[in-house]
Amino acid sequence: MVLSGMNSLEQMRDNLLFMKDFVPMTEAEKATCAKAAMIIQQSSMIPCTACHYCTETCPKHIPIPEYLSLLQEGHSTTQIVYYFNLAQTHGRAGDCIECHQCERHCPQHIKITDHLKEISQAFDGFKGW
Ligand code: SF4
Ligand code: SF4
Repeated sequence: MVLSGMNSLEQMRDNLLFMKDFVPMTEAEKATCAKAAMIIQQSSMIPCTACHYCTETCPKHIPIPEYLSLLQEGHSTTQIVYYFNLAQTHGRAGDCIECHQCERHCPQHIKITDHLKEISQAFDGFKGW
């Protein structure tokens, strides 16, 4: 399967040209991909692609992909500063009202509201060093 974002006829032609001399993957290449997929699925990584489909309808203007990336990068000083900078102009993780609109738009089926609770616990209660 190939997923390619296109928003013009020119981009579509370019993509079709790329597939003109298509050579399928070998069995060894397929096995490598399957192994890589298994490793990714078994890791605790959140499969967010930062497509921002989820943020378009969020009534609280929560920067969901940016907050999700924080969850994966840990809670160091840099992450805390980044969080509070974002929260000045956007909703905080704890502002989520669990309307679940974001989850209905997420192509990766990420449990956004659950992750926002974790993020809120880690960052919203921060009282300083
Ligand atoms: S569930 Fe939370 S993050 Fe998702 S759209 Fe609603 S308010 Fe925004
Ligand atoms: S819709 Fe899903 S994959 Fe896209 S940015 Fe939001 S959480 Fe990430």
